[in-house]
Amino acid sequence: MNTVARAHGRWREILPRLGVAVSFLVNRHGPCPICGGKDRFRFDDKDGSGSYYCNQCGPGPGIMLIRKLNGWGHATACREIDSIIGDGAPVAKAPPPARNGGRLEAIEGLLAEAEIYLVHNRASRQDQLVILAFHHRWRR
Ligand SMILES: [Zn+2]
Repeated sequence: MNTVARAHGRWREILPRLGVAVSFLVNRHGPCPICGGKDRFRFDDKDGSGSYYCNQCGPGPGIMLIRKLNGWGHATACREIDSIIGDGAPVAKAPPPARNGGRLEAIEGLLAEAEIYLVHNRASRQDQLVILAFHHRWRR
């Protein structure tokens, strides 16, 4: 999802943090945060798009408001918005806790010892295969 899509419905939270005072974010005529005046601007936030209308600057969505106000390009505006609402990247997961609280490692250790024991004591091929098969199953 791109920045503008993620910003949907959140412009009243975003705009004040990027230079548009809360006093501008009302749907009645007032001064324009970009070009001033007295009653040329209103913020109607159509469908959560952050839209505004200025008799002087024209209409635009929320992202255009901060672009014009700050002299930013689209990419810069997106970066600034991302810094407020997050960039949508999946949150890195913490490594999983040791499986079975370390019990699996303990069992693997025992099996490895058993393997060595069997080999050293010339266990029958049959026994070795059983142990090896067991070990491989646990390793998965
Ligand atoms: Zn204006």
